[in-house]
Amino acid sequence: MTSLWNKPGVPHKGWRCVNIYDVREGGSSAEEAVYATCEMCGKTEIRFVHTMEHDEYGTLDVGCICAGKMEEDYEGAQRREATFRNRAARRAKWLSRKWRTSAKGNHYINAEGHNLVVFPNKFQPGRWKFSIDGNFSSASYDTPDEAKLALFDAFWSVIEGDHRRH
Ligand SMILES: [Zn+2]
Repeated sequence: MTSLWNKPGVPHKGWRCVNIYDVREGGSSAEEAVYATCEMCGKTEIRFVHTMEHDEYGTLDVGCICAGKMEEDYEGAQRREATFRNRAARRAKWLSRKWRTSAKGNHYINAEGHNLVVFPNKFQPGRWKFSIDGNFSSASYDTPDEAKLALFDAFWSVIEGDHRRH
């Protein structure tokens, strides 16, 4: 693949990141070594893909270095990738964390000032819900583990909000 950096008509600036994802998400192991190729430079092999969008061009899936150039913010691109990796690592360990059992028999964790609980949905036997600081999830889940992972995703949005406010 040739580099789009040298191709006339491809903007070098004015891009913004609209998504980031891990090409190994969904469980492929490190040994399988799945990588994407950066669509901007056409050569860097990337695991974490930054999807960049430009009003006059559309989208490109690129690596951290090209993303930083395209949005003229190297540190921003690095920070975004570090945050994403940190989230992925924490999510991978989430189920094996030490969950405590409440007096009612529900699994819970207190983390970063929040009370996180998974409990059976009493209106739908065999289904599970979660709560964050006493606010119940609207959805319910087939297994406690599914509820815990959904809880993680909701919890992550909450702590991102906490960090923005500080
Ligand atoms: Zn690149």
